[in-house]
Amino acid sequence: MRQREWRSSGKSRTGAIVFLLVLVAIGIGLIFAGQGHPNDNSAPTCDGKTMSTSDICDEYTNGALTSSSSYQDLLDQQHNGQPGEIVFGGVLIGVAVLLSIPLLRAYSPSRPWGKPIGFLCPQCGGPNLREASMSRSTTKGRTKTTYRGVVTLCSPACGFSAVRRPDPVAKKNRR
Ligand SMILES: [Zn+2]
Repeated sequence: MRQREWRSSGKSRTGAIVFLLVLVAIGIGLIFAGQGHPNDNSAPTCDGKTMSTSDICDEYTNGALTSSSSYQDLLDQQHNGQPGEIVFGGVLIGVAVLLSIPLLRAYSPSRPWGKPIGFLCPQCGGPNLREASMSRSTTKGRTKTTYRGVVTLCSPACGFSAVRRPDPVAKKNRR
């Protein structure tokens, strides 16, 4: 019922829009961060300290040496930027654009919750029953249990709701 209410109120769609905007913002940030500065000849820094021309900048990850850059290496990086970051930023923006249409359609407030079923409501007798498969997981220590069920709801005005076990897959193949 909360899922249905969030969708019809537009709350789900707002969540989807925020998610897409975050992707775009990270993408734009990466594109800016990856830009080169061809005319910036100021001395590069290593761990926040300004380097002199004979310095070597060693980088350690978990105590292991992962990169060793000379003053000239880092100056070249400053001039050329990080093309990989620019590409990754572009990919993130592309993914957000591709996802926007299916996501906004899926969470549109005008799209009704669930699928209609061909039975009349046992409570109000109306033809407004709709159902959808739902799952809910709980974690206790190292054990994760997932409950699946098919939820049937009538109109909010009627308030009828029911849950049944999903049909076993094997049943579909039986004649
Ligand atoms: Zn009803």
